[in-house]
Amino acid sequence: GVVAEIKSKVDLVELIGSYITVKKVGKHYSALCPFHQEKSPSFVISPERHMWYCFGACHEGGDVISFVMKWENITFYEALKELARRANVQLTDARFNDREWEKQEILYKINNLAAEYFHYILMKTPLGKKALEYLKTRELNDKIIETFQLGYAPDSWDSLLKFLKKKKFSEEDILRTGLIIRSE
Ligand code: ZN
Repeated sequence: GVVAEIKSKVDLVELIGSYITVKKVGKHYSALCPFHQEKSPSFVISPERHMWYCFGACHEGGDVISFVMKWENITFYEALKELARRANVQLTDARFNDREWEKQEILYKINNLAAEYFHYILMKTPLGKKALEYLKTRELNDKIIETFQLGYAPDSWDSLLKFLKKKKFSEEDILRTGLIIRSE
């Protein structure tokens, strides 16, 4: 789809580098985090994974779209429009009206929250303890686990649903993400 096309056409390092100074360190790039005050760089970009992450105060990361959203404090759709312009990708299709994208944006938010939720369970709760120990035996350190927001889904069919409903998302929107399915 158009999101994947934009992501493949926009060079993440080049884009972030157009806003802040980035420096190559091995396979990655590092910079002073633009989202909090710091003196030594804890902001990392992985061109391979098309991801950025702040290991400092923010403990937050994402893709090219989320960077632009955060940098300019704009919505998913607005960021997409701007990136489409940069990448010369047409968003003029009738399907891409604002209402459609508002719906898309909700899905994006739900998916992000779900990732945070499972990550929290892995890192901070007794439920995730075994999984976390397993990851350590596979030599996945905390940095990697944080960067890729690895998570643990507990053996409980409705915990995510309850969590997302508490965050005021409708059951209909949650179902649309495919994170949850209705059983017979
Ligand atoms: Zn930061």
